[in-house]
Amino acid sequence: MRVQFDRFYTYAELTETLEAWASEFPGRFSLESIGKSYEGRDIWLCTVTNTETGPPDERPAVFIHAQIHAMEFTGTTAALHLLDHLLHSDDPRVRHAVDTRTFYVVPRVNPDGADAGLADGRFRRSSVRPYPRDEPEDGLHRADVDGDGRVLFMRMKDPNGSWKPHPDDPRALIARRPDDVDGDFFRVLPEGTIHNWDGVTIPIARPLEGLDLNRNWPADWAPEAEQQGAGPFPTSEPEVRALVEAIVARKNITSYVGYHTFSGVHLRPWSGRSDDEFPVPDLRAFKIIGEEATRLTGYPSISIFHDFKYHPKMVIKGGDVDWIYDHLGAYAWVTEFWSPQRAAGLSEYHFIDWIREHSPEDELAVLKVADELGDGYVDWYPFEHPQLGPIELGGWDLVRFWFNPPLSRLEEEVKPHADFALYLALISPLLEIRSFETEPIGDGAHRLRLVLENAGWLPTNVTEKAIERKVVRPIQVDLELPEGARIAAGKEREEAGQLGGRVERRQITWWNTDHSTSERTLVEWVVEARAGDRVSVVARHERAGAVRAELVL
Ligand SMILES: [Zn+2]
Repeated sequence: MRVQFDRFYTYAELTETLEAWASEFPGRFSLESIGKSYEGRDIWLCTVTNTETGPPDERPAVFIHAQIHAMEFTGTTAALHLLDHLLHSDDPRVRHAVDTRTFYVVPRVNPDGADAGLADGRFRRSSVRPYPRDEPEDGLHRADVDGDGRVLFMRMKDPNGSWKPHPDDPRALIARRPDDVDGDFFRVLPEGTIHNWDGVTIPIARPLEGLDLNRNWPADWAPEAEQQGAGPFPTSEPEVRALVEAIVARKNITSYVGYHTFSGVHLRPWSGRSDDEFPVPDLRAFKIIGEEATRLTGYPSISIFHDFKYHPKMVIKGGDVDWIYDHLGAYAWVTEFWSPQRAAGLSEYHFIDWIREHSPEDELAVLKVADELGDGYVDWYPFEHPQLGPIELGGWDLVRFWFNPPLSRLEEEVKPHADFALYLALISPLLEIRSFETEPIGDGAHRLRLVLENAGWLPTNVTEKAIERKVVRPIQVDLELPEGARIAAGKEREEAGQLGGRVERRQITWWNTDHSTSERTLVEWVVEARAGDRVSVVARHERAGAVRAELVL
């Protein structure tokens, strides 16, 4: 079965696709549930690796999840495309990655929110669990009032309205200027109905589903009053709890990406701290990885704290990437798919500030692209609202154009991102046995020499943060001897520290470049055994994998 790009998948279609792959590719693809959503749907985790060359947990891994936010369907499509690519591609780099690394992919973290959104077209941020109130607030709630499957905007003429038609394209509404006194002005409201209306005032009610599952993670978490959508305590929500437990149980994760929309950008930690607070090697590696992400996908790579704040004086609390990097010491990214602005040819714009404020010319440029790619903007049409009387419906389709690319653009948008996932897999540390040799030293004694190497680009510890947080253990080497043999020097279990990677070797002109064999180590034993005895070793590192060798004395 191949992934389709002409629609967004329902949970049933998603499940059917994953089950089909599990039976089609038994040696490369496995499917398991990591827990149940609030409404009881299984949250699927896919594991892709060639199990003929080793078990999934004995090799470094990339962890990717998508659609923690209900309406960000593009993320699930991108995750499915990645899985499809890993299973079907003949590219030798893909084959090498699947032979030596593991991909863990959760294609839809929030199946309840996604299915609800597909069914009624109404924007909801995340989970469907009512929070913090369990009954609706008074005021306007978004809803599809005319039953056409879209939740757009309502407008009505109002001498005190804030909006006026664009002179060149009256479909578009632009802000009334501070000194505008004459003209047709409009009031604009989200399409919906008003709960307990007093007939005059229209507050916009906070949605019943007030959670944001990407504010419910354990690092830098803050309660509701400080961080909207945070939930009652970190990992209070079953979807986040399932992810956190699945991640903690997979100690081989070296890199992580959460798939979101929109902005067309790769985001890295921290959310709430300056780059100055990184250990220097980690920031350097983040920047190198980010540059490659940009080369592969065309999306800029930026710090959330420095370049992606929603409010200049507020930072995001309880997000996933901070936890992954800060507590687990793995490289963590958010990919925000799709930039309507870039599609419209705009290049010099700030991701967040533009949304809040941009010129009427920019508005028309994006409207033009929406027309070309699909029906992202709906011309105003009359409707008799049950409460407000005659109004017009129309405007931006936030779900189909802003929060997701039009379907005609979906495949093109997600495709390059499989290459970034592949890159993240291939830069991980990779433990290898360079040699395992013996020499007789007399009196039935034999010297054993084991040389281990890290063949990867990153060090075995992956980040300095992992050392600082004491979350990464040294290489552990177990020597296995036959009955009757004994160790005369050395221990049955040796620890072999961390091994460096090539990451710090970037310029031969830099006089302090480490030209040592820091990626290599030697472990020695003296054993007393009979000639012809078999001796074996197993070297394990939680992140860099496990390797085995055997020799005959
Ligand atoms: Zn999101």
